[in-house]
Amino acid sequence: MSEIRDSCAVVGIWGHPDLLYLAREALSHGNHRGQEGSGIALASRTDVLLQKGEGLVSEVFSERSSYWHALRAFKNPLLAIGHDRYSTKGDSKWINLQPVDAHGLVLCSNGDVVNLPGQKEFLRDRGVTFNTAVDAELIANSIYYHHEVKGRPWPEAIGKMMQYVRGVYSALLATPGTLRAFRDPYGIRPLFMGEDPIAFASETCMLDAIQSRVVREVNPGEMIEVGPGVITSHQVAEPLGPFLCDFEWIYFSRPDSYLNGIRLQVARKRAGAFMIEKYPAPDANVITCLPETAVDAAIGAAQACGVVQDRVFIKNRYGGRGFIHPNQSDRRDVARRKNNPIRENIEGRALVVFEDSIVRGTTTKELIEVLFNNGAEKIYLYVVSPPYSYPCFYGVDTGVPKDLLTQPWADLPVGVIERKVAEYLDGEGTTRLVVRYLRPNELPEAYGIDSRKCCGACFTGHYPIPIPEKIPHKREAEQD
Ligand code: SF4
Repeated sequence: MSEIRDSCAVVGIWGHPDLLYLAREALSHGNHRGQEGSGIALASRTDVLLQKGEGLVSEVFSERSSYWHALRAFKNPLLAIGHDRYSTKGDSKWINLQPVDAHGLVLCSNGDVVNLPGQKEFLRDRGVTFNTAVDAELIANSIYYHHEVKGRPWPEAIGKMMQYVRGVYSALLATPGTLRAFRDPYGIRPLFMGEDPIAFASETCMLDAIQSRVVREVNPGEMIEVGPGVITSHQVAEPLGPFLCDFEWIYFSRPDSYLNGIRLQVARKRAGAFMIEKYPAPDANVITCLPETAVDAAIGAAQACGVVQDRVFIKNRYGGRGFIHPNQSDRRDVARRKNNPIRENIEGRALVVFEDSIVRGTTTKELIEVLFNNGAEKIYLYVVSPPYSYPCFYGVDTGVPKDLLTQPWADLPVGVIERKVAEYLDGEGTTRLVVRYLRPNELPEAYGIDSRKCCGACFTGHYPIPIPEKIPHKREAEQD
């Protein structure tokens, strides 16, 4: 039961007669990345209309919603951009939903800026006003400053923004008659481009949903501009990546999406097989997973070793969402209420249980306790990622260091961490719970990825973009 949440999904579509319907469809296929609210903006050659609301896409843009009716009434739309939000900055309230409208620039983004306060102060000192707490507004306002105030052409203005606004943004910008897609120089969050129709999206499954053929990724530091009859690519900043987030491979992206040409379901099955082959559990008689995480890893492991795979929990999909409860006891309570155990598949068994990650450990502890209370004799807990010991500053909500279960043990060998986690989950001296983590150096082989092109800072503490304490004050990065 994953305790980490992503920040968002974005989609942009150009020049299709049904682009509003396509935007809604693609956004609903991005809802796994954020469920707090969504927004759609339409632009014609002369106007832009933005509508957004709290809830799932199917709720915000239902056929009966006023938002939907307003968008339907918009004349001659040429392009649409849209956003699914999970908040990592700013309250979960309407004003902080995206897209944002900053001085007429309508923009949405996935990721977090790491030097937001200093850059905000810099722009405020120059008369640029802010209305929200979200990074997207800073990005839009910085572009506004460099384009409208300083008079630079769009590519140069966006390049200047990238020079000063540091962090993670896979973003879409809607202005009358033009759609722009760009990605920060580090390339930590994905952004794909498709054709027929021309579209951009956080994941390939979102492009599949609107039958837009995936062409390529937007490159780090690249801006692609789409106007009537013309598509142009501009390398507006020197690429410093990609450093694609490891958790896109492990958990965030939907299993039917592709990364680097690899279907994620295939990669995750491979990781499960890798773990069970490298760390066998000879007496196991059932392979399973905690509710709806590491499902594919469990399938891969079962196929690799021939042990029967089965479910041990049934999840109530319609109960309260774990991530909207801010304190830990609520998280535990939600985990228990949402997941009903199937005693027949648990009692007297030695279970291999797959889990994508352990962050705080509270929900995992709760569910392990439920399994033992229902008669499990032994549990092998296989975590298909390394110990999550450092916070993420790039748009993933994992809390502060003290919230991370393995943070105090970050410098210890993984084998020692495994024993300490087992004791946390099942009490001191446990022999009935065995915890197995993937080692950081096993990630490439397990998933088939190139670690040199990935961010794994939450496992290693090596941040590809300097973390906030090391970000120079805005005066050090004075802008011309
Ligand atoms: Fe992803 Fe971790 Fe890097 Fe954050 S720190 S971007 S969660 S790999």
